Parts: sequence; C-alpha cells; structure tokens
Amino acid sequence: MAQVSLRNVCKTFAGNVNAVNNVSLGIENKEFMVLVGPSGCGKSTTLRMIAGLEEISSGDVFIGNKRVNDVPAKDRDIAMVFQNYALYPHMTVFENMSFGLRLRHIPKQEIVQRVSEAADILGIKRLLNRKPRELSGGERQRVAVGRAIVRKPMVFLFDEPLSNLDAKMRVQMRTEIHKLHIRLQTTIIYVTHDQVEAMTMGDRIAVMKDGILHQLDDPIDVYDHPKNKFVASFIGSPPMNIMQGRIIKKEGRLYFDEGKIQVKLVEGMYKKMASYVGSEIFFGIRSEDVYDKLFVSEAPPENIVRVNCEVFEPMGSEVYLYLNTGRHTFIARVGAHDRPKVNQEMDVVFDMSKVHFFDKSTEETIV
Ligand code: ATP
Repeated sequence: MAQVSLRNVCKTFAGNVNAVNNVSLGIENKEFMVLVGPSGCGKSTTLRMIAGLEEISSGDVFIGNKRVNDVPAKDRDIAMVFQNYALYPHMTVFENMSFGLRLRHIPKQEIVQRVSEAADILGIKRLLNRKPRELSGGERQRVAVGRAIVRKPMVFLFDEPLSNLDAKMRVQMRTEIHKLHIRLQTTIIYVTHDQVEAMTMGDRIAVMKDGILHQLDDPIDVYDHPKNKFVASFIGSPPMNIMQGRIIKKEGRLYFDEGKIQVKLVEGMYKKMASYVGSEIFFGIRSEDVYDKLFVSEAPPENIVRVNCEVFEPMGSEVYLYLNTGRHTFIARVGAHDRPKVNQEMDVVFDMSKVHFFDKSTEETIV
C-alpha cells in the first residue's frame, strides 16, 4: 500500500519565508494527485518534503503508514522526475536508466529486463545507446520517466515534468503519463502550475496559493464548485469572469447590479443571498454560460445584457468574444461560426442558474 499523508505540514525558510503553511493532505493508494497553483505557492516545496529533499519545519509526512520525517530520501521508496530531467550527460540512455538499479546491486540480468520493459512502455528502445545530447526534449523526458519506472517505487513524484516541452509535445506526454498511471497502478503526486494539466490528469487536485491548500477535490467539483474566488479564477481556461457589483432588491426580486448591467438572480439563490442585499459582492460567470442572444430562442428579458464586442478570437471549434459592459470586460465562448461585428453593441444572455457569488471581504463562495 502506498498512500501518502501530510499532517499539518509547514515549511519556513531562512528569512521567515512561510513557503508551506499547515498543509494536511491524504493521497490514496494508486491515486493520481495533482498539486497545482501559481508560481511561488509552495507546491514544489511540498513535493520536496515528501521526497525527503527538504526538511520539514513542523508536521508529519507518512508514506505507506510509516512516518518518514527522519528517513533519508534514498530510503523512502519513491522516484522523482524533475523539470530539467537531471540526466547524466556522459551516460547512454541505458546507463542513465539503469544507474539507480546498479547502485542497489540488482543482478545484471534483472537490470536488462527492467530497462527493456520500461523502454518498451515508453517507446524508446531504439534510443538506448544514445547520449542525452543526441535526444529531443520529449525523448529526454521519456528517459527521465523511464529511470523512475525501472525502480518500481511505491510512489512517483513529478515536479513540472512537461514545462520544458513545446505545446504539442506537452499534450502528447500528458496523455502518455496518464496512460502510464493506468498501466502501472501506482500512486503519483504531480506538481504543475498548468491548470489544464491538473484538470485533465488528476484523480483529485489540490489547489494551493501562498503556501495554503485552498481546495482538494476531484477536478470537476473544483471547476463547478470552487470554494473561493481564487480557485474560481485559477481553474478553467479562459478563467471565470469575475465582476464586482451589488445585490439589490426590486419588487421582491433580487438582482445583481454591476453598475452598467443588471441581471435577475434565480429564486433558488434568494435564501443564501438575502443577507447581501445592499452589499458589494463579487459575481462570477464562466465563459460557456454566456450566450449570443441571436442564437437563444427564449431568453428571459431580465437575463439579457447589452455589451460592446471589443474583439473576437476564432479558436477553430469555438469563438472567444471579449465583451465590455462599460465597467468590466468579460469573455464569452460561442459557436465557431458566430461572427458579431467588432466595436458594436450586441445582446448576450447569462445563464443565471450557473453563476457564482463570492463574499467581498473573505472572497469565500456564497453560492
Ligand atoms: P514555481 O512554480 O515557481 O516552482 P512553487 O509553487 O513550486 O513555484 P516553491 O518553489 O515551493 O513554489 O516556493 C514557495 C516559496 O518558498 C516561494 O516564495 C519561494 O521563493 C520560497 N523558497 C523556495 N525555496 C526557498 C529557499 N531554499 N530559501 C528561501 N525561500 C525559498
């Protein structure tokens, strides 16, 4: 069993830098857990503490039921894949992949068998006699992964392994690592700042900022039910549109008043929003929940807003519209053939059953 758990883990660097602040996190056996967050949020430091490459300031780390705070990295039965691959330049691919096994005095025949199996899985058999400088970025990344696989560790740790690859190769390697996880059936903890990688790869994702774990959930729950404004605007591409405004009441109905536009809340939200009447608030709507009115046959008039279309970006399968209310610019994702006139007014419809509200001072989700 290779579950990993962090209990109230903190890391303070010299100069009183609180890189990781009281993080508690349980990673189940065979789970693919992604730690995601903006640069400097403490995700690599968290991973390095699990690996034993960084001392823990306070709290405990357990790997497979064993407290490992004082266990050296080499005895933790983990394998780590780094962003810069960390291959030995003077060794061939075979020597790089087998290096760890040779140090552990594994019999030669078994080494050859394990390297050959891993090279097969990763499609790098033909590269075994080459040196790292004779490989492309994607091939080097495969070798780095191969070197981890041959160890057959309890837990794999990946620290931004794809960030040095071009966009196309990143997408390809993303799928390969995903498939590898299904094939190897081991626990993986994967660090990235790329929320698309997090969404597509993780069984669950842990969203971090400023050393704090903000949300731990499966990707769709994080997307649909973000716990606060930070998570809402970090997860999703394009990010959730956020506008500041006020909740007002007219003839017994609640509206969000942005200053230039007004939309009516669905009644199911009234109970939670009642205490915010008259208050400043953050309103969030995802770009796919805004529609060009031209293509909506029956839109409630209270959900239609007039905006100026500033720019449109054809993405192939869809079009991003950059719309301006006079106060906020927001994005709508519409059909591939929608071509509104730029710098002209148009009407769009908000799906008010999908919107989010965040408290102005705590930024926590209200509904
Ligand atoms: P990135 O995506 O940029 O790698 P990250 O989320 O992985 O960022 P960490 O590398 O974990 O962030 O760093 C978290 C914080 O700790 C940052 O503010 C960083 O400057 C600080 N930090 C990291 N290592 C050290 C160190 N050795 N000494 C002092 N501060 C450090």
